[in-house]
Order: sequence, then structure tokens, then C-alpha cells
Amino acid sequence: MNSKSSNQESHWLPCEDGAIQSAAESVRALRAVEQRRRFLKATVTGSVCLAGAAFAGWSLFASNDKRRAVRGNRNYPGGISCAEVIRLMPEYVAQSLTNENLTNSIAVHLADCKHCRGIHHSMTHTA
Ligand SMILES: [Zn+2]
Repeated sequence: MNSKSSNQESHWLPCEDGAIQSAAESVRALRAVEQRRRFLKATVTGSVCLAGAAFAGWSLFASNDKRRAVRGNRNYPGGISCAEVIRLMPEYVAQSLTNENLTNSIAVHLADCKHCRGIHHSMTHTA
């Protein structure tokens, strides 16, 4: 076993000078490519970040707009405003509303609006 390994060692050939040099050169070239790539990547990343920030700003603005619209709709679940629901609440609670659509609208509104549901709850539980 010992003789075998030493035999293998003897098969190792010393690198030629040229081979080392060309290897070093290719490493250097690779490093340069890598550096250029890194620079390019940084530049691309930078511009992507800039574009991303711009897009994020825009989408934030857009979503703010959307949120405002949603909040606006939220004030009118059932297509009826909180003020209207509260105004009609006594009649709704007394079940004296003759307009079925309005009754349904209030029911939908109450199912969706915590604020009016609380008022409805307090009215139906104190009356
Ligand atoms: Zn409401």
C-alpha cells in the first residue's frame, strides 16, 4: 500500500511555467469579468431599485386612492348611508317601514356596518 501511494506520487508532474501563467491570466480575466458583472449588476440593481421605488410610490399613491374609494363605499353598505340608517332605525326596529327595498338595504347595511349594528343592538335591547 505504501509502495503504491509513493508510486502514484511519482506520477505527479510539476506544472510548467507557462501553464501556471496562463492559469493566473485566466483567473485574472475571470476576476475582471466578475468585477464588470458585479458593477453591471450593481448598476442594474440600482436602476431596478429606483424603478421599484418609483413604482412603489406610485402604487402606494394608487392604493391610497383605492383605499379611500373603498372606505367611501364602506360608509354605504347596502347602498344606504349611516345617517340614513340611523334616521330610519326607529321605524326599522318597530318594523313599520313599508319600503321593502329600504328594509333590505338597512339589513344589508347592518350586516356590514359595525357602527350601525351597535346602534341597532342598543335600540333593540333597551326598547
Ligand atoms: Zn352604518
